[in-house]
Amino acid sequence: MSNTVKARGITVAKAKHYIACGGCGCPNCGSENVTGGSFDSDIGWERRLPTVVWQNVYCEDCDFEWQDVYTLTDVCDRDDKSFLVPD
Ligand SMILES: [Zn+2]
Repeated sequence: MSNTVKARGITVAKAKHYIACGGCGCPNCGSENVTGGSFDSDIGWERRLPTVVWQNVYCEDCDFEWQDVYTLTDVCDRDDKSFLVPD
């Protein structure tokens, strides 16, 4: 069952599409009329776990709420945003 509904209505397929396109629109209705809110983080370095940041996101068109999840993947110069760690 690859399309099992999870995360309050977001299917795994919709979540994968949302991630692959860089968060291109509401994962529920596809609208680009979304607003990013506050961030929360779990700094993992003391436990040697991935550092994770969550951002609250809200769709103005369908009232859907979700969280974008970010993990620490690289470091960069403050002025040059080039990636240092290759994929
Ligand atoms: Zn929506």
